[in-house]
Amino acid sequence: MPQVRTRFAPSPTGYLHLGGLRTALYAYLFARKNGGVFILRIEDTDQEREVAGAEEQLRKSLKLAGLTYDEGPDVGGSYGPYVQSERKGSYAPYAWALVEKGAAYPCFCTKGRLDQARTEAEREGRTFKYDKRCMSIAKNEARRRVESGEKHVIRQNMPTDGAASFDDALFGHIEIDTAQLDDMVLMKADGFPTYNFANVVDDHLMGITHVMRGTEYLSSTPKYNLLYEAFGWDKPVYIHLPLVMADATRKLSKRYGDPSFEDLLNEGYLPEAVVNYIALLGWNPGDDREFFTLGELEQSFSLDGLSKSPSIFDKAKLTWMNGEYIRRLPFGRYYELAKPWLEKALPDWGRDPKRLAELLHGRAEVLNRIPEMAAFIKAMPEYGLELYTHKKMKSDPAVARESLAFVEPILRAVEDWTEASLHDSLMPAITASGRKNGAVLWPLRVAISGLTSTPGGATEIAYLLGKTETLRRITAARERLAL
Ligand code: GLU
Repeated sequence: MPQVRTRFAPSPTGYLHLGGLRTALYAYLFARKNGGVFILRIEDTDQEREVAGAEEQLRKSLKLAGLTYDEGPDVGGSYGPYVQSERKGSYAPYAWALVEKGAAYPCFCTKGRLDQARTEAEREGRTFKYDKRCMSIAKNEARRRVESGEKHVIRQNMPTDGAASFDDALFGHIEIDTAQLDDMVLMKADGFPTYNFANVVDDHLMGITHVMRGTEYLSSTPKYNLLYEAFGWDKPVYIHLPLVMADATRKLSKRYGDPSFEDLLNEGYLPEAVVNYIALLGWNPGDDREFFTLGELEQSFSLDGLSKSPSIFDKAKLTWMNGEYIRRLPFGRYYELAKPWLEKALPDWGRDPKRLAELLHGRAEVLNRIPEMAAFIKAMPEYGLELYTHKKMKSDPAVARESLAFVEPILRAVEDWTEASLHDSLMPAITASGRKNGAVLWPLRVAISGLTSTPGGATEIAYLLGKTETLRRITAARERLAL
């Protein structure tokens, strides 16, 4: 078998969506697993759809995902350039070679004529198909008109009967009736090839052995195969990947606010968690293992595990997985990632961000939850007195009133405001007084955080708040409870 060469061929029309990320990932994994080469090719022949900066963003995203490409726009390679607009001049000779073989022809029909035919088809409830009118123009006449600068496109001459087919590694034999095929445009009037033509020419010229792309191309691939046949080129192995859906009825889409890879990273998902999650969305490792590093995926990936049915993106599952990834991070790395989020919640908070991060590590499943979890430090949230009621802790507002009266002077007397000395002053005093720990610590925590669930317990929070703020909050709580 020749060396495996796969490619990811995005159009620079926006952010990397999750379906695209998964296609890129599988193409990458398949190349790595087989000691092959993974290529990035930018398909920008539809200049109208191009979005400024999108190519750079795509490259950045692939790097963040760890999908290193061996050949591509910024890394070079012996089959470049890897941006189709930079190869613009290379497609026409191939199109003309097809014209010579009778597999394509120049078409001079005006937009007006085509629009009219389209409207007619619509009115009659037919799908529009070009009527091959320009096929009847003699070849040398057509050439003369082209050479004199007449506006034209080049169309693929589809067979009018029989079937066109191809074999897909996942979906098997796919066949369509050629009578359905429109003579699609290969070269546009602006001199650019269409995607339909450029992908075939480039996959051939770049020696691509395995083409992986979404199932939305399943019905176009028979047309591409006709092109391979007309050229007499070897066909690649096709692997069409089922869609990634938002739910049972629609595919993931930016239009409905579904997140792109970049959106997820901005929300505080870790790229390695997203990659792990996405890998399993349509591929089954054969056992119930769920956690894979990219390196492990490179070892384990195989086409056998690919699913034919669409998969549904489940953000809750991703969030759970991300939480696991965050918990497993060494603290130093976690702190680096958490710091900007903490600074957002507590600008200029100089007390002990590291300790706070330690207490938050493992609690926030996604980094963007950090600000809301830390916000009570900056501002005491409003809370209802029912928070003081906790059956197991043997606490209620009356108990709380008494407990806070008991605890306030103890805390006021603490000079060295550290977690250890807070603990050492509080705990023996509670025991000596015959009170239950919960009946004191629960109300204390509610009084100084306004919450029933916090990173750390009462002493950790008191420490983080500092002495003045802790006592201020206790006084305020006692005033409320006294009413
Ligand atoms: N440029 C196409 C897209 O972005 C790529 C399809 C293919 O991989 O052939 O959908």
